[in-house]
Amino acid sequence: MNELTAEVVVAGAGPTGLMLANELALAGVDVQVLERMHERTGLSKALNLQPRTAEVLDLRGLLGRAEQRSFATVADGHFAVIPVRYTGWDTRHPYQVGIPQAQVEAALEERLAEQGVKVLRGHRLTGFEQDATGVTITAGDLRVRAKYLVGCDGGRSAVRKALGLPFEGIEGRGHGVSADVLFRTTPPGAPTQWRSMGNMVTSLSPGKFVGLIPLGEPNLYRLSYGDRLNRPEDLRAEVPEDEVRAAVRERFGDEVEIEEIRWVSRFSDDSRLAAKYRVGRVFLAGDAAHVHFPAGGQGLNLGVQDAMNLGWKLAADVRGHAPADLLDSYEAERRAVASGVLQNVAAQNALIPLTPDQLALRALFRDLAALPEVQHKLSGMVSGLDIAYASPESHPAAGTRLPDFPLGNGFASDLFHSGRFVLLTKTPAPTPHPEVVVAEVPELPWPDLTQVLVRPDGYVASTTGSAAGWLV
Ligand SMILES: Cc1cc2nc3c(=O)[nH]c(=O)nc-3n(C[C@H](O)[C@H](O)[C@H](O)COP(=O)(O)OP(=O)(O)OC[C@H]3O[C@@H](n4cnc5c(N)ncnc54)[C@H](O)[C@@H]3O)c2cc1C
Repeated sequence: MNELTAEVVVAGAGPTGLMLANELALAGVDVQVLERMHERTGLSKALNLQPRTAEVLDLRGLLGRAEQRSFATVADGHFAVIPVRYTGWDTRHPYQVGIPQAQVEAALEERLAEQGVKVLRGHRLTGFEQDATGVTITAGDLRVRAKYLVGCDGGRSAVRKALGLPFEGIEGRGHGVSADVLFRTTPPGAPTQWRSMGNMVTSLSPGKFVGLIPLGEPNLYRLSYGDRLNRPEDLRAEVPEDEVRAAVRERFGDEVEIEEIRWVSRFSDDSRLAAKYRVGRVFLAGDAAHVHFPAGGQGLNLGVQDAMNLGWKLAADVRGHAPADLLDSYEAERRAVASGVLQNVAAQNALIPLTPDQLALRALFRDLAALPEVQHKLSGMVSGLDIAYASPESHPAAGTRLPDFPLGNGFASDLFHSGRFVLLTKTPAPTPHPEVVVAEVPELPWPDLTQVLVRPDGYVASTTGSAAGWLV
């Protein structure tokens, strides 16, 4: 048996686990990442970064690295395949970054390696035991003793199952399939570049959908199709090539020929949320805590932001700066956000019509969605830009995200690269705590405020600049 120690063990090197490990490493926490796969598959479920995820990566100087690996900048998002614009939001990133999930993972793993942390691949977590001072994690012939364990091990999370946590929600009736397909020629009417969700070739016959997203290589597309009412008996069984070819024929007729199906995967339309995100010294994040139909392109984004929320809190605890209730605020804040996403996904599923009256409802909804206020509401939901956390302070800025703004030769977001709290102040001020970066600014996004203390994840902690309740 090989033995290791760590302050935090992260199980799973998907986007959530890698983001979390980066956050912990940045704060100087001794982190070990266990990943069951010997190497990354290179397959990409997700294809996008939503605006809030772009902002969050920008807070750590990671967005440029992701954008270098992207294949598209998409001007809008979608709600039930109805395009929604992000332009009504005060953000420097009112667009989706089109980037395969594998490239997000590669960028995060590269940064993690630069911080001196190597993912321990080929190590599947098989069990753990926790006691008053720590957790002992077993992964085959490896045993790691740590202060905390975080299960970022995906929808079938071994950590969640070992905790015995209920994973409840809506059991769907349908299914979806995603496949990366190389066509011999460009399918008629299909866009050759992914610029807008509006130009996705998508047909909606009752209960069914077919869509194509160009992946940046000539004639290579992400094909997605599904059926709200029917699912095969075994969702995990391999998807037959014939089924993919039939879906293409149904949409385009016989003229469109497939050269190669690079990968294909079936997914369910179940929506589930873990009953708790924390049991003692063990936490859940990302798909381990929540799964849903990929409507609107939100899952990876939710996981990366879970990691951004949990990382600095765990680091503060490990380094002895955390107030007693800080770690519990992770579940309070992020479970509510996931619950909201599950709700909006359920609403999106309901907008894939089955009956003539539902078709009429969808048509009406599409008209309503064109109204600026409705656009704002829907785009806030899918982008994550509408997220605000509860605060005891009454000022409207409390708990909301800091909109980025130019500062000196750069932007306010640059101040967050070290992963610490930032005090933005219009008048000279002493640091309220050694963990706080102080920056004098000519203006604040809220003209009536003189100081704001902003959390490492970019949300306003205090509109008076006080660190009380946030750092000890
Ligand atoms: C078809 C499809 C399309 C999607 N499209 C989008 C989209 O466009 N936009 C979007 O935002 N989201 C999308 N999603 C959702 C997105 O892919 C997930 O939300 C995302 O992968 C979650 O990341 P994660 O790191 O939490 O989990 P995962 O990506 O599942 O990573 C978990 C990791 O843990 C490892 N692991 C598992 N068990 C163990 C163990 N016992 N020990 C050690 N390691 C373990 C796994 O090998 C894996 O590397 C889509 C999902 C699907 C299925």
